[in-house]
Amino acid sequence: MTKQHSLIPKDESELKVIKPYRFIHKNDIERRATDVLMYVQAKRQHPLKWPIDAGYMAEALGLDMDCGEIPADEYGAIAAMILPTERKIIMNENHRDLPPGFEESSIAHEIGHWILHIDRNEVSRFSELQEMGIEKTVEPFLCRSVSTQQGIEWQAQYFASCFLMPLFKLEEVQIGRDLTNWKHLYAMREHLGITISNLTNRLQSLGWISIPKGSKQIYPGKAAPNGQTNLFNR
Ligand SMILES: [Zn+2]
Repeated sequence: MTKQHSLIPKDESELKVIKPYRFIHKNDIERRATDVLMYVQAKRQHPLKWPIDAGYMAEALGLDMDCGEIPADEYGAIAAMILPTERKIIMNENHRDLPPGFEESSIAHEIGHWILHIDRNEVSRFSELQEMGIEKTVEPFLCRSVSTQQGIEWQAQYFASCFLMPLFKLEEVQIGRDLTNWKHLYAMREHLGITISNLTNRLQSLGWISIPKGSKQIYPGKAAPNGQTNLFNR
């Protein structure tokens, strides 16, 4: 076996706890987010409260939350950092003073990284090795949610959206509401404690509504009817 083999870390003392990128189906991300909500609900033996308190959820998963200054590196800005073996999420304090709903979304995004991208078996192995007196280094996980709209960042953001707006809850809060009416959407937004763009993105992703780019007109279902816009603009 050669040292060049990709499965062998260059540094023998390093333990790889960050999973390499792989495609994860949207439905799987949705299921993982619901599983976490159900896990916490079972643990506290009470129905979940809304809006979801993402900080509380992180705590229930045994994660510590902290805030600190994280300088940008050669690849750009860093929104947050996860120290896997310390089970700690550090939010970059430069990202504070965010509009309401945004903070919850950021924490839920980091929970998404913890669930989807950290190899928690390897984190446990780190502790076992440490008990045996074998010291390993583990690199921190760096979140760049601001700059990237694809790959792992997209996955974590989709997780956050499923986590704060799970399907079962959306089905409940839309009862008696008109999804094509902004006033009704704002009322739902209030109840769920998220931003209005979080909500419209989620509803569009589910195919419940569609809003053509640059328009304020909300259409029911997947696609805006072609050539019908004039009817609404009269
Ligand atoms: Zn991220």
